[in-house]
Amino acid sequence: MGLKNIADSDLENKKVLVRFDFNVPIKNKVIKDSSRIDLALPTIKLLLEKNVSKLVMMSHLGRPQGQNHPELSLEPVAHYIAEKLGIEVYLSESATDSGIKTLLNLGHIKIIMLENLRFHPEETKGDNEFAKILSEYGDIYINDAFGVCHRKHSSVYELPSLFTRQNTFAGPLIQKELSSLTKLIEKPAKPFVCVVGGAKVKDKINTLEKLLIKADSILIGGAMAYPFLKAKGIEVGNSLCSDEDVSIAKSLLDRDKGSKIHLPSDHIIAADPNSKPKIQDSQGIPEDKSGFDIGPKTQKKYQAFLSNAKTIFWNGPMGLFETENFSHGTFFIAEAISKTNAFSVVGGGDSVSAINKSGFSDNISHVSTGGGASLEFIEKGSLPAIQILKYTH
Ligand code: AMP
Repeated sequence: MGLKNIADSDLENKKVLVRFDFNVPIKNKVIKDSSRIDLALPTIKLLLEKNVSKLVMMSHLGRPQGQNHPELSLEPVAHYIAEKLGIEVYLSESATDSGIKTLLNLGHIKIIMLENLRFHPEETKGDNEFAKILSEYGDIYINDAFGVCHRKHSSVYELPSLFTRQNTFAGPLIQKELSSLTKLIEKPAKPFVCVVGGAKVKDKINTLEKLLIKADSILIGGAMAYPFLKAKGIEVGNSLCSDEDVSIAKSLLDRDKGSKIHLPSDHIIAADPNSKPKIQDSQGIPEDKSGFDIGPKTQKKYQAFLSNAKTIFWNGPMGLFETENFSHGTFFIAEAISKTNAFSVVGGGDSVSAINKSGFSDNISHVSTGGGASLEFIEKGSLPAIQILKYTH
C-alpha cells in the first residue's frame, strides 16, 4: 500500500494538521540555521494555494524533557515563517491550550503554530490521550517530519491512527526521503561505497551490519575508526575508544568476510584538541596523543573508492570537524563525493552541515533531513511512523 500524497488531493476548506520538523538551532531567539524550515516552506505555500481553511503546524524543538523551557519556544520559528510568507502565524501558549479551539473558529485566522510539543512529557511517551487532544485540531493529518519517524512519539505514531486513511498523508519531504533511501537499499548501482564516521559506534552497528551485506566498500573515519584499529591490535593512544566499541568493532570485522571495511592509514594527531596538530604517517597513534582527523594518505585512498562509485552513502564526520585544524578530512570527503557522478545520499546532522558549509550540496543527489531516521531506515527498510501512515484504517 502506498503513501498518500497531498499534491493531487483536494484539501479545499479543510482544517489541516501538519507535523513538521522545525528542530533548528536557536540561540537567544536567533535561528542559527534555518535549513529545516526553508525545506518546509514550499509545503506550507502549497497548502495555502490549495485553500485549506486552517493550517495547524506542530513540531518539537530541542530536548525540554517534558518541561516548559522558554528558550525552546517555537516563537522565533513562527516569526520566521510569518516574515517569509508575509502572513500572520498565531503561536499557541501550549499544544493543549484551550484557546486553540477559539482560534480555529475565527474566520480571518489561517495559520496556527502549536507551541513545542515536547513541553508535554506525553509527546515522547507516545501517549494516546495527548494525541486525541491534538487530533481535534484538524480534519486532515499530514506527517512531514522524517527526522522523528523512527520514534514512536505521540504526534507521529499515535496521532495518525486517529484519522482515516483517506485523511492521512505523507508530506513531500517524507516522500522524497523514502524514494532516495529506497533506491539506496533496494538496487544500488555498483560499486556501492559507504563512508561512515562520527563517534557513536554503538548507534551505527545495526546499519553497518546491513551495509556489510549491501555495500561493496565501507570507508570508516572519525572516532569510529579507533575501535576498529584497536580490535586489530593497532595502538590508538588516547583517541576516543571505549572497550564496548572495540568488542562491537571486533565482531563486525569477524563478519567482514569480503574485506569490505577499510580503515585510515594515517591520522592528524595532537595531545588535545587545542594543541598543534601533526600528521601521523602510520596506522598506529603514539601513547600520549589522540587522533582527531583522517590524514592525507587516507583522504586519497578514500577518494579513489569514491571516484569509482556508482552509489554513495555518507553518514558521520571524518574527525573533530567543529575545530578548524581537524575539519579538513571531512571537507575533503564532502568535496570528493560532490565531484562524482554517483547517486549520492548524505545523512546525519554533522555530515549535512559539512556538506552545506562546503558549498557542494547542490551536487549531492539527496541530503537527508534525518540522521537517526535514515540509519534506521537503511537497517530495517521502514520506520514505525511510516508504517502507521501506510496501514491506518
Ligand atoms: P556522530 O553523532 O556519531 O555522527 O558523531 C559526531 C561527532 O563525532 C562530532 O561532534 C565530531 O566532532 C565527533 N568526532 C568525529 N571524529 C572524532 C575524533 N577523531 N575525535 C573526537 N571526536 C570526533
